[in-house]
This record gives sequence, C-alpha cells and structure tokens, in this order.
Amino acid sequence: MRVNATGRVLHDPKGGSFRFDAGAVCLDFAHTGGEGQYAIFETLHEPADLGEWLAQPPLAAVMTVPVTARELAEAKALRQAIWDAAHARAARVPLPAEAVAIINRAAAKAPLTPELAADGTTAGWAPPVRATQALSALAREMIDLLSGPLSERIRECASDNCPLVFVDTSRPGARRWCAMERCGNRHKLRALRARQAADS
Ligand SMILES: [Zn+2]
Repeated sequence: MRVNATGRVLHDPKGGSFRFDAGAVCLDFAHTGGEGQYAIFETLHEPADLGEWLAQPPLAAVMTVPVTARELAEAKALRQAIWDAAHARAARVPLPAEAVAIINRAAAKAPLTPELAADGTTAGWAPPVRATQALSALAREMIDLLSGPLSERIRECASDNCPLVFVDTSRPGARRWCAMERCGNRHKLRALRARQAADS
C-alpha cells in the first residue's frame, strides 16, 4: 500500500466536488458515506459500489469474488467505527468500545495477500480477492494509525461546520483544513472580508 497515494474526489449532493486527502486509506474510506445526517453522502449503494471503491488505488484490490450484501453491511459498520474512532481521537476522548470491537473484528479476518509478478518488479493481490480481506487491510491500517506515532495528528477540519477528519502526514504538521479549495479558501475569504469591514 503506497501511503502517499491517498485521497479521493468527494461529491456534494448539492453539486460540486473537491479533492480530499484524508492521509490514510482507512480514513478516505470513512468518507464514502454514512448514517443519519450523512446518509445523503452515501456512495456505497450496492455491493458492486464497494468493489469499485476498493479497486481504485492505492489499495487496488480488484475483486475476483463479487462483493456480497453481507460484506457491504460489514463495510458500512467498519466505516462508521473508523469515523467514530477518528473523531474520538481528534477530540482527545476515549474511543467508543463498540468502534474498537468492530475494528478488531474486521482486522482479525485474513487480509489481502501480496503477490509478486513473474518478472519480480510489480506486485498485486493473490486471488481469490474478497472484500472481507480488503476490509481487514483497512482495519489493520486504522489500528496502526491509532496506536502509532501519527495518532496525535488525527484532526477534524478546523472549519466550524465541517466534520471531515484526516491525519496530518505533513512534515511541519500544521494542516488545518480538509481541503484548501473547500474550507481553507472560505476561511481566508471570511478573514479578508472581516478585515475590510473593520477598515471601513
Ligand atoms: Zn473542511
């Protein structure tokens, strides 16, 4: 898994889209939709939608066995657990026990098996490739993240009304926004208008 190849284009149901890099594949996955107020952002409607998401880089897990409805349900439970755990860590409060249990359960399954190509220069995933294995890989990545040195770098976007969560993998560690083009510029514009209003 190439850690420097994270990020996906997110679409707003009201139109518009922007590139968001959560800094880890498991955190990117946490932004594929949700429950309750986040249901309008759902992108994983059918089992095949999950297969398509997992097939994209950097995971590039092209399913050789079609995703089942059960796997889709497990994926959504894991997604919620990753989301809840990331927000708890960002808020510096204890992780919800249920989220920890769901992440551990997913990680306990056999993960994807790397396989070197005959020429020895490229690698892929050994078949059969199932969604459960890819979910295990995401859960394991989340465990590494929460228990590793970047754990303190898990943050929610600094914008007031933006719940997007990411891990700041930059060297200075000063990332504040989900995406500059979304919340960063909005903030700059507001600061500029406030300054202009104060000047006039
Ligand atoms: Zn934001």
